[in-house]
Amino acid sequence: MNNYPHNLLSIEKSSALRRGVQIRKAGKRAGEYLDGKFLRSKPPLLPSMSEFDTVRHFTNLSRLNFCLDTHFYPLGSCTMKYNPKAYDVLSGLDGFSSLHPYCPEDCAQGTLSLIYGLEEQLKQITGLAAFTLQPAAGAHGEFTGALIARAYHKDRKDFDRSEIIIPDTAHGTNPATAAMAGCKVVNVKSAHDGRVDLEELKKVLNPKTALVMLTIPNTVGLFEKDIKEISRLTHEAGALLYMDGANLNALIGLVKPADMGVDIMHINLHKTIATPHGGGGPGAGAVGVCGRLADFLPVPRVIYDGKKYKLESKSKKSIGKVKSFYGNISVLIRAYCYLRQFDGETLKEIARGAVLSANYVRVKLAKYFPAYFDEVCMHECVLTIDKGVLPNAKTLDVAKMLLDMGFHAPTIYFPLIVPEAIMVEPTETENKQTLDKFISAMTSIFLEAGTNPDVLHEAPKNCPVKRIDEVSAAREPNLRW
Ligand SMILES: *Cc1c(COP(=O)(O)O)cnc(C)c1O
Repeated sequence: MNNYPHNLLSIEKSSALRRGVQIRKAGKRAGEYLDGKFLRSKPPLLPSMSEFDTVRHFTNLSRLNFCLDTHFYPLGSCTMKYNPKAYDVLSGLDGFSSLHPYCPEDCAQGTLSLIYGLEEQLKQITGLAAFTLQPAAGAHGEFTGALIARAYHKDRKDFDRSEIIIPDTAHGTNPATAAMAGCKVVNVKSAHDGRVDLEELKKVLNPKTALVMLTIPNTVGLFEKDIKEISRLTHEAGALLYMDGANLNALIGLVKPADMGVDIMHINLHKTIATPHGGGGPGAGAVGVCGRLADFLPVPRVIYDGKKYKLESKSKKSIGKVKSFYGNISVLIRAYCYLRQFDGETLKEIARGAVLSANYVRVKLAKYFPAYFDEVCMHECVLTIDKGVLPNAKTLDVAKMLLDMGFHAPTIYFPLIVPEAIMVEPTETENKQTLDKFISAMTSIFLEAGTNPDVLHEAPKNCPVKRIDEVSAAREPNLRW
Protein backbone atom coordinates (compact mmCIF):
# COMPACT_ATOMS: atom_id res chain seq x y z
CA MET A 1 0.00 0.00 0.00
CA ASN A 2 2.80 2.42 0.82
CA ASN A 3 6.36 2.64 1.98
CA TYR A 4 5.86 3.58 5.56
CA PRO A 5 6.95 1.12 8.20
CA HIS A 6 3.87 1.50 10.36
CA ASN A 7 1.90 -1.24 8.69
CA LEU A 8 4.52 -3.69 9.83
CA LEU A 9 3.50 -4.31 13.38
CA SER A 10 6.42 -4.83 15.65
CA ILE A 11 5.24 -8.38 16.20
CA GLU A 12 5.76 -9.02 12.50
CA LYS A 13 9.27 -7.63 12.73
CA SER A 14 10.06 -10.00 15.53
CA SER A 15 12.94 -12.42 15.15
CA ALA A 16 13.72 -15.07 17.74
CA LEU A 17 17.41 -14.29 17.36
CA ARG A 18 17.15 -10.66 18.34
CA ARG A 19 16.88 -9.32 21.83
CA GLY A 20 16.86 -5.98 23.54
CA VAL A 21 18.66 -5.36 26.81
CA GLN A 22 19.65 -8.60 28.48
CA ILE A 23 18.81 -8.62 32.13
CA ARG A 24 20.66 -11.15 34.21
CA LYS A 25 18.40 -14.06 35.19
CA ALA A 26 17.17 -13.92 38.77
CA GLY A 27 18.50 -16.59 41.05
CA LYS A 28 15.02 -17.76 42.01
CA ARG A 29 11.97 -18.48 39.92
CA ALA A 30 8.58 -16.83 40.40
CA GLY A 31 7.04 -20.20 41.30
CA GLU A 32 9.07 -20.22 44.49
CA TYR A 33 7.13 -17.17 45.68
CA LEU A 34 3.73 -17.37 44.00
CA ASP A 35 0.94 -19.86 44.05
CA GLY A 36 0.72 -21.78 40.72
CA LYS A 37 -2.65 -20.22 39.85
CA PHE A 38 -0.98 -16.82 39.49
CA LEU A 39 1.61 -18.06 37.04
CA ARG A 40 1.30 -18.06 33.28
CA SER A 41 1.28 -21.39 31.60
CA LYS A 42 2.96 -20.00 28.49
CA PRO A 43 5.26 -16.99 28.07
CA PRO A 44 3.43 -13.91 26.70
CA LEU A 45 3.53 -13.34 22.97
CA LEU A 46 5.91 -10.41 22.88
CA PRO A 47 8.03 -9.45 19.90
CA SER A 48 11.66 -10.29 20.11
CA MET A 49 13.55 -7.32 18.75
CA SER A 50 16.76 -5.42 19.18
CA GLU A 51 16.53 -2.21 21.14
CA PHE A 52 17.65 -0.29 18.06
CA ASP A 53 14.86 -1.70 15.88
CA THR A 54 12.34 -0.93 18.59
CA VAL A 55 13.47 2.67 18.96
CA ARG A 56 13.35 3.10 15.20
CA HIS A 57 9.91 1.54 14.98
CA PHE A 58 8.36 3.87 17.53
CA THR A 59 10.24 6.94 16.33
CA ASN A 60 9.00 6.35 12.81
CA LEU A 61 5.47 5.90 14.08
CA SER A 62 5.68 9.19 15.95
CA ARG A 63 6.85 10.95 12.80
CA LEU A 64 3.66 10.02 11.00
CA ASN A 65 1.81 12.44 13.24
CA PHE A 66 0.52 15.69 11.92
CA CYS A 67 0.94 18.10 14.79
CA LEU A 68 1.39 21.69 15.76
CA ASP A 69 5.08 21.19 16.37
CA THR A 70 5.59 20.06 12.79
CA HIS A 71 2.94 21.69 10.62
CA PHE A 72 0.72 24.73 10.14
CA TYR A 73 -2.57 23.75 11.74
CA PRO A 74 -5.31 26.25 10.77
CA LEU A 75 -8.17 24.29 12.33
CA GLY A 76 -11.00 26.82 12.67
CA SER A 77 -12.65 27.23 16.06
CA CYS A 78 -9.75 25.43 17.74
CA THR A 79 -7.04 28.13 18.07
CA MET A 80 -4.13 25.82 17.38
CA LYS A 81 -1.50 28.36 18.30
CA TYR A 82 1.99 28.02 19.62
CA ASN A 83 2.23 27.98 23.39
CA PRO A 84 5.52 28.46 25.21
CA LYS A 85 7.10 25.12 26.11
CA ALA A 86 8.41 26.58 29.34
CA TYR A 87 4.92 26.33 30.80
CA ASP A 88 4.94 22.58 30.29
CA VAL A 89 8.05 22.40 32.42
CA LEU A 90 6.56 24.67 35.07
CA SER A 91 3.31 22.75 35.28
CA GLY A 92 5.30 19.56 35.72
CA LEU A 93 7.25 20.88 38.73
CA ASP A 94 7.23 18.39 41.53
CA GLY A 95 5.48 20.74 43.96
CA PHE A 96 2.47 20.83 41.64
CA SER A 97 2.46 17.41 40.10
CA SER A 98 2.96 15.40 43.27
CA LEU A 99 0.51 17.32 45.42
CA HIS A 100 -2.21 14.99 46.65
CA PRO A 101 -5.69 16.46 46.14
CA TYR A 102 -6.68 15.37 49.66
CA CYS A 103 -3.74 17.09 51.31
CA PRO A 104 -4.70 19.69 53.94
CA GLU A 105 -5.09 23.32 52.87
CA ASP A 106 -1.98 24.28 54.80
CA CYS A 107 0.19 22.11 52.56
CA ALA A 108 -1.43 23.31 49.34
CA GLN A 109 -1.11 27.08 49.76
CA GLY A 110 0.92 27.42 46.55
CA THR A 111 -1.59 25.67 44.32
CA LEU A 112 -4.54 27.34 46.05
CA SER A 113 -2.97 30.77 45.58
CA LEU A 114 -2.44 29.96 41.92
CA ILE A 115 -6.11 29.00 41.45
CA TYR A 116 -7.13 32.17 43.27
CA GLY A 117 -4.71 34.27 41.21
CA LEU A 118 -5.94 32.82 37.92
CA GLU A 119 -9.53 33.58 38.88
CA GLU A 120 -8.49 37.18 39.62
CA GLN A 121 -6.76 37.46 36.24
CA LEU A 122 -9.83 36.14 34.43
CA LYS A 123 -12.06 38.53 36.36
CA GLN A 124 -9.93 41.41 35.16
CA ILE A 125 -9.98 40.27 31.55
CA THR A 126 -13.74 39.71 31.45
CA GLY A 127 -15.06 42.22 33.99
CA LEU A 128 -17.11 39.42 35.57
CA ALA A 129 -17.45 39.05 39.34
CA ALA A 130 -16.43 35.45 40.03
CA PHE A 131 -15.07 32.32 38.35
CA THR A 132 -14.94 28.58 38.75
CA LEU A 133 -12.07 26.65 37.23
CA GLN A 134 -13.58 23.21 37.76
CA PRO A 135 -15.06 22.42 34.32
CA ALA A 136 -12.79 20.17 32.29
CA ALA A 137 -13.78 21.38 28.80
CA GLY A 138 -15.71 24.04 26.95
CA ALA A 139 -18.87 21.96 26.71
CA HIS A 140 -18.55 21.15 30.40
CA GLY A 141 -18.36 24.88 31.11
CA GLU A 142 -21.51 25.45 29.08
CA PHE A 143 -23.27 22.75 31.05
CA THR A 144 -22.14 24.34 34.31
CA GLY A 145 -23.40 27.73 33.08
CA ALA A 146 -26.79 26.30 32.07
CA LEU A 147 -27.19 24.70 35.51
CA ILE A 148 -26.30 28.01 37.16
CA ALA A 149 -28.94 29.80 35.06
CA ARG A 150 -31.58 27.23 36.00
CA ALA A 151 -30.67 27.41 39.69
CA TYR A 152 -30.88 31.21 39.57
CA HIS A 153 -34.36 31.27 38.06
CA LYS A 154 -35.55 28.58 40.45
CA ASP A 155 -34.19 30.53 43.39
CA ARG A 156 -36.32 33.47 42.30
CA LYS A 157 -39.35 31.18 42.18
CA ASP A 158 -39.40 31.63 38.44
CA PHE A 159 -40.04 27.94 37.82
CA ASP A 160 -41.14 28.03 34.21
CA ARG A 161 -37.91 29.14 32.60
CA SER A 162 -36.76 26.08 30.71
CA GLU A 163 -35.96 27.35 27.22
CA ILE A 164 -32.56 28.25 25.85
CA ILE A 165 -32.44 30.40 22.73
CA ILE A 166 -29.55 29.53 20.41
CA PRO A 167 -28.76 31.09 17.01
CA ASP A 168 -27.94 28.95 14.00
CA THR A 169 -24.38 30.32 14.05
CA ALA A 170 -23.71 28.87 17.52
CA HIS A 171 -21.16 26.19 18.18
CA GLY A 172 -22.60 22.68 17.96
CA THR A 173 -22.01 22.00 21.63
CA ASN A 174 -24.49 24.75 22.62
CA PRO A 175 -27.72 22.96 21.70
CA ALA A 176 -26.32 19.70 23.06
CA THR A 177 -25.58 21.44 26.36
CA ALA A 178 -29.05 22.94 26.56
CA ALA A 179 -30.60 19.52 26.06
CA MET A 180 -28.28 17.94 28.65
CA ALA A 181 -29.34 20.60 31.14
CA GLY A 182 -32.96 19.54 30.62
CA CYS A 183 -33.93 22.63 28.62
CA LYS A 184 -35.75 23.06 25.37
CA VAL A 185 -33.64 24.41 22.53
CA VAL A 186 -35.22 27.29 20.65
CA ASN A 187 -33.43 28.24 17.44
CA VAL A 188 -33.12 31.77 16.19
CA LYS A 189 -32.20 32.43 12.57
CA SER A 190 -29.38 34.67 11.48
CA ALA A 191 -29.96 37.79 9.45
CA HIS A 192 -28.42 38.09 5.97
CA ASP A 193 -25.21 39.49 7.50
CA GLY A 194 -24.53 36.35 9.59
CA ARG A 195 -25.59 37.90 12.89
CA VAL A 196 -28.55 37.38 15.17
CA ASP A 197 -31.69 38.76 13.59
CA LEU A 198 -33.12 41.08 16.24
CA GLU A 199 -36.68 40.78 14.94
CA GLU A 200 -36.44 36.99 15.07
CA LEU A 201 -35.00 37.18 18.57
CA LYS A 202 -37.91 39.33 19.74
CA LYS A 203 -40.32 36.72 18.38
CA VAL A 204 -38.81 33.85 20.38
CA LEU A 205 -38.03 35.61 23.68
CA ASN A 206 -40.79 34.81 26.14
CA PRO A 207 -41.46 34.27 29.86
CA LYS A 208 -40.08 30.73 29.56
CA THR A 209 -36.66 31.83 28.28
CA ALA A 210 -33.97 30.90 30.78
CA LEU A 211 -30.97 31.84 28.71
CA VAL A 212 -29.91 33.38 25.44
CA MET A 213 -26.73 31.59 24.45
CA LEU A 214 -24.46 33.30 21.95
CA THR A 215 -21.13 32.22 20.57
CA ILE A 216 -19.00 35.38 20.39
CA PRO A 217 -17.35 35.77 17.94
CA ASN A 218 -19.88 33.53 16.23
CA THR A 219 -18.89 30.52 14.17
CA VAL A 220 -18.85 32.49 10.93
CA GLY A 221 -16.07 34.50 12.54
CA LEU A 222 -18.10 37.67 13.09
CA PHE A 223 -18.74 39.88 16.08
CA GLU A 224 -22.33 40.48 17.21
CA LYS A 225 -22.48 44.20 16.51
CA ASP A 226 -25.87 44.48 18.22
CA ILE A 227 -24.77 42.79 21.40
CA LYS A 228 -25.90 45.71 23.57
CA GLU A 229 -29.39 45.55 22.14
CA ILE A 230 -29.47 41.75 22.37
CA SER A 231 -28.48 42.02 26.01
CA ARG A 232 -31.14 44.66 26.68
CA LEU A 233 -33.87 42.55 25.06
CA THR A 234 -32.72 39.43 26.91
CA HIS A 235 -32.75 41.12 30.30
CA GLU A 236 -36.04 42.84 29.60
CA ALA A 237 -37.53 39.39 29.02
CA GLY A 238 -36.19 38.27 32.42
CA ALA A 239 -33.64 35.91 30.89
CA LEU A 240 -29.86 35.72 31.30
CA LEU A 241 -27.24 36.21 28.60
CA TYR A 242 -24.67 33.46 28.12
CA MET A 243 -21.53 34.00 26.08
CA ASP A 244 -19.74 31.02 24.64
CA GLY A 245 -16.28 32.56 24.79
CA ALA A 246 -14.41 29.37 23.95
CA ASN A 247 -12.45 31.28 21.34
CA LEU A 248 -11.37 34.42 23.09
CA ASN A 249 -8.36 34.98 20.89
CA ALA A 250 -9.92 37.82 18.90
CA LEU A 251 -11.24 39.66 21.94
CA ILE A 252 -8.83 39.05 24.78
CA GLY A 253 -7.72 42.33 26.32
CA LEU A 254 -9.85 44.36 23.89
CA VAL A 255 -13.42 43.77 25.07
CA LYS A 256 -14.79 42.94 28.50
CA PRO A 257 -17.77 40.62 28.15
CA ALA A 258 -19.34 42.10 31.31
CA ASP A 259 -19.50 45.48 29.52
CA MET A 260 -21.55 43.83 26.78
CA GLY A 261 -24.12 42.68 29.33
CA VAL A 262 -22.95 39.08 29.57
CA ASP A 263 -24.12 37.31 32.76
CA ILE A 264 -22.35 33.96 32.34
CA MET A 265 -19.54 32.88 30.06
CA HIS A 266 -16.99 30.18 29.62
CA ILE A 267 -13.49 30.49 28.25
CA ASN A 268 -11.57 27.55 26.86
CA LEU A 269 -8.21 27.97 28.53
CA HIS A 270 -7.17 25.11 26.25
CA LYS A 271 -7.50 27.28 23.17
CA THR A 272 -6.62 30.87 23.79
CA ILE A 273 -4.67 30.56 26.99
CA ALA A 274 -1.61 28.33 26.77
CA THR A 275 -2.82 24.78 26.21
CA PRO A 276 -3.51 23.56 22.67
CA HIS A 277 -6.95 22.29 21.81
CA GLY A 278 -7.45 19.05 19.93
CA GLY A 279 -5.76 15.76 20.45
CA GLY A 280 -8.03 14.89 23.34
CA GLY A 281 -5.77 16.13 26.12
CA PRO A 282 -7.07 17.69 29.32
CA GLY A 283 -8.81 21.05 29.06
CA ALA A 284 -10.32 23.75 31.23
CA GLY A 285 -13.57 25.54 30.53
CA ALA A 286 -13.41 28.30 33.13
CA VAL A 287 -16.85 29.75 33.89
CA GLY A 288 -17.32 33.36 34.95
CA VAL A 289 -20.51 34.95 36.24
CA CYS A 290 -21.83 38.39 37.19
CA GLY A 291 -22.29 39.32 40.85
CA ARG A 292 -25.88 38.15 41.26
CA LEU A 293 -24.92 34.64 40.14
CA ALA A 294 -21.77 34.18 42.22
CA ASP A 295 -23.51 32.18 44.97
CA PHE A 296 -24.59 29.57 42.44
CA LEU A 297 -21.06 28.66 41.30
CA PRO A 298 -19.81 25.15 42.00
CA VAL A 299 -18.09 24.48 45.31
CA PRO A 300 -15.51 24.37 46.71
CA ARG A 301 -14.39 27.91 45.92
CA VAL A 302 -10.94 29.16 46.77
CA ILE A 303 -11.07 32.15 49.12
CA TYR A 304 -8.36 34.28 50.74
CA ASP A 305 -8.79 35.72 54.20
CA GLY A 306 -5.78 38.01 54.01
CA LYS A 307 -3.45 35.38 55.46
CA LYS A 308 -4.37 32.04 54.01
CA TYR A 309 -6.08 30.45 51.04
CA LYS A 310 -9.00 28.23 51.95
CA LEU A 311 -11.50 25.97 50.29
CA GLU A 312 -14.98 27.19 50.98
CA SER A 313 -18.06 25.02 50.46
CA LYS A 314 -20.67 26.89 52.48
CA SER A 315 -22.84 28.40 49.75
CA LYS A 316 -26.30 26.86 50.07
CA LYS A 317 -27.26 28.03 46.60
CA SER A 318 -24.31 26.38 44.84
CA ILE A 319 -25.11 23.89 42.09
CA GLY A 320 -22.58 21.59 43.80
CA LYS A 321 -19.49 20.02 42.37
CA VAL A 322 -19.10 19.56 38.63
CA LYS A 323 -15.74 17.80 38.69
CA SER A 324 -13.72 15.79 41.13
CA PHE A 325 -11.43 18.10 43.10
CA TYR A 326 -10.60 21.48 41.54
CA GLY A 327 -10.24 21.06 37.78
CA ASN A 328 -7.35 20.12 35.51
CA ILE A 329 -4.62 21.82 37.48
CA SER A 330 -1.86 21.39 34.90
CA VAL A 331 -3.92 23.37 32.37
CA LEU A 332 -4.65 26.04 34.98
CA ILE A 333 -0.95 26.42 35.76
CA ARG A 334 -0.15 27.03 32.11
CA ALA A 335 -2.94 29.63 31.87
CA TYR A 336 -1.71 31.35 35.02
CA CYS A 337 1.85 31.56 33.62
CA TYR A 338 0.59 32.95 30.31
CA LEU A 339 -1.47 35.68 31.95
CA ARG A 340 1.38 36.56 34.31
CA GLN A 341 3.78 36.81 31.40
CA PHE A 342 1.62 38.89 29.08
CA ASP A 343 0.22 42.16 30.38
CA GLY A 344 -2.96 43.85 29.17
CA GLU A 345 -1.21 45.64 26.31
CA THR A 346 0.38 42.43 25.06
CA LEU A 347 -2.95 40.63 25.22
CA LYS A 348 -4.36 43.32 22.95
CA GLU A 349 -1.51 42.71 20.53
CA ILE A 350 -2.28 38.99 20.61
CA ALA A 351 -5.94 39.62 19.76
CA ARG A 352 -5.08 42.10 17.01
CA GLY A 353 -2.52 39.69 15.58
CA ALA A 354 -5.08 36.88 15.45
CA VAL A 355 -7.57 39.14 13.65
CA LEU A 356 -4.92 40.42 11.25
CA SER A 357 -3.77 36.90 10.29
CA ALA A 358 -7.33 35.75 9.57
CA ASN A 359 -8.08 38.81 7.47
CA TYR A 360 -4.81 38.51 5.58
CA VAL A 361 -5.75 34.98 4.53
CA ARG A 362 -9.32 36.05 3.73
CA VAL A 363 -8.29 38.93 1.49
CA LYS A 364 -5.46 37.09 -0.25
CA LEU A 365 -7.73 34.15 -1.07
CA ALA A 366 -10.79 36.23 -2.02
CA LYS A 367 -10.33 35.59 -5.75
CA TYR A 368 -10.13 31.82 -5.29
CA PHE A 369 -12.08 30.83 -2.22
CA PRO A 370 -14.23 33.82 -1.25
CA ALA A 371 -15.38 34.43 2.30
CA TYR A 372 -19.06 33.55 2.67
CA PHE A 373 -19.70 36.81 4.51
CA ASP A 374 -17.45 39.25 2.74
CA GLU A 375 -16.40 41.64 5.48
CA VAL A 376 -13.72 42.07 8.13
CA CYS A 377 -13.69 38.92 10.26
CA MET A 378 -12.41 38.17 13.72
CA HIS A 379 -9.96 35.36 14.58
CA GLU A 380 -11.08 33.11 11.72
CA CYS A 381 -12.43 33.39 8.21
CA VAL A 382 -15.03 31.09 6.75
CA LEU A 383 -14.38 30.54 3.06
CA THR A 384 -16.46 28.74 0.50
CA ILE A 385 -16.24 27.37 -3.03
CA ASP A 386 -17.80 29.50 -5.74
CA LYS A 387 -19.78 26.84 -7.59
CA GLY A 388 -20.12 29.16 -10.57
CA VAL A 389 -16.33 29.01 -11.02
CA LEU A 390 -15.58 25.50 -9.75
CA PRO A 391 -18.75 23.46 -10.28
CA ASN A 392 -17.10 20.11 -9.55
CA ALA A 393 -14.90 21.01 -6.61
CA LYS A 394 -15.72 19.92 -3.10
CA THR A 395 -14.42 21.21 0.19
CA LEU A 396 -13.47 17.68 1.21
CA ASP A 397 -11.13 17.51 -1.81
CA VAL A 398 -9.52 20.83 -0.91
CA ALA A 399 -8.89 19.60 2.63
CA LYS A 400 -7.37 16.32 1.42
CA MET A 401 -5.13 18.15 -1.06
CA LEU A 402 -3.83 20.37 1.72
CA LEU A 403 -2.73 17.29 3.64
CA ASP A 404 -0.66 16.25 0.65
CA MET A 405 0.95 19.66 0.59
CA GLY A 406 2.03 19.57 4.21
CA PHE A 407 -0.75 21.53 5.90
CA HIS A 408 -3.26 20.37 8.43
CA ALA A 409 -6.73 20.78 6.94
CA PRO A 410 -8.91 23.63 8.18
CA THR A 411 -12.23 22.81 9.82
CA ILE A 412 -14.62 21.85 7.03
CA TYR A 413 -18.39 21.76 6.54
CA PHE A 414 -18.81 23.81 9.70
CA PRO A 415 -20.65 26.04 10.43
CA LEU A 416 -23.61 24.37 8.80
CA ILE A 417 -25.13 27.57 7.46
CA VAL A 418 -22.20 28.00 5.05
CA PRO A 419 -22.23 25.67 2.01
CA GLU A 420 -18.86 23.96 1.39
CA ALA A 421 -17.43 25.77 4.41
CA ILE A 422 -13.66 26.02 4.87
CA MET A 423 -12.98 27.56 8.25
CA VAL A 424 -9.44 28.88 8.60
CA GLU A 425 -8.01 30.07 11.91
CA PRO A 426 -4.35 30.96 11.40
CA THR A 427 -3.72 32.51 14.88
CA GLU A 428 -1.27 35.26 15.74
CA THR A 429 1.63 32.89 16.27
CA GLU A 430 2.14 32.05 12.59
CA ASN A 431 4.45 34.33 10.63
CA LYS A 432 3.69 35.91 7.27
CA GLN A 433 5.92 33.44 5.38
CA THR A 434 3.89 30.50 6.67
CA LEU A 435 0.62 32.22 5.80
CA ASP A 436 1.96 32.98 2.32
CA LYS A 437 2.87 29.33 1.81
CA PHE A 438 -0.64 28.32 2.83
CA ILE A 439 -2.16 30.93 0.53
CA SER A 440 -0.07 29.72 -2.37
CA ALA A 441 -1.04 26.08 -1.65
CA MET A 442 -4.71 27.08 -1.68
CA THR A 443 -4.17 29.01 -4.91
CA SER A 444 -2.62 26.03 -6.63
CA ILE A 445 -5.46 23.80 -5.42
CA PHE A 446 -7.88 26.28 -6.97
CA LEU A 447 -6.02 26.16 -10.30
CA GLU A 448 -5.83 22.37 -10.23
CA ALA A 449 -9.54 22.12 -9.45
CA GLY A 450 -10.29 24.19 -12.55
CA THR A 451 -8.11 22.20 -14.96
CA ASN A 452 -7.76 18.76 -13.50
CA PRO A 453 -10.47 18.12 -10.90
CA ASP A 454 -9.95 14.34 -10.85
CA VAL A 455 -6.56 14.76 -9.21
CA LEU A 456 -8.30 16.34 -6.27
CA HIS A 457 -10.65 13.43 -5.79
CA GLU A 458 -7.66 11.13 -5.35
CA ALA A 459 -5.85 13.15 -2.69
CA PRO A 460 -4.11 12.58 -0.39
CA LYS A 461 -1.44 10.61 -2.18
CA ASN A 462 1.59 11.38 -0.05
CA CYS A 463 0.13 10.58 3.35
CA PRO A 464 0.53 7.26 5.15
CA VAL A 465 -3.23 6.72 4.87
CA LYS A 466 -4.68 7.37 1.43
CA ARG A 467 -8.18 8.53 0.57
CA ILE A 468 -10.62 6.63 2.70
CA ASP A 469 -13.66 5.12 1.10
CA GLU A 470 -16.09 6.98 3.30
CA VAL A 471 -19.19 5.21 2.04
CA SER A 472 -17.85 1.74 2.86
CA ALA A 473 -16.37 3.04 6.09
CA ALA A 474 -19.85 4.14 7.15
CA ARG A 475 -21.72 1.07 5.85
CA GLU A 476 -19.26 -1.65 6.79
CA PRO A 477 -17.10 -0.22 9.52
CA ASN A 478 -14.10 -2.35 10.32
CA LEU A 479 -13.42 -1.39 13.88
CA ARG A 480 -10.62 -3.87 14.49
CA TRP A 481 -6.97 -3.68 13.50
C1 LIG B 1 -14.24 24.43 21.06
C2 LIG B 1 -15.50 25.09 21.30
C3 LIG B 1 -16.41 24.60 22.25
C4 LIG B 1 -16.26 23.29 22.97
O1 LIG B 1 -15.09 23.15 23.72
P1 LIG B 1 -14.61 21.68 24.17
O2 LIG B 1 -13.49 21.93 25.11
O3 LIG B 1 -14.21 20.96 22.93
O4 LIG B 1 -15.78 21.02 24.85
C5 LIG B 1 -17.56 25.33 22.48
N1 LIG B 1 -17.80 26.46 21.80
C6 LIG B 1 -16.96 26.95 20.88
C7 LIG B 1 -17.30 28.23 20.16
C8 LIG B 1 -15.78 26.28 20.59
O5 LIG B 1 -14.96 26.75 19.65
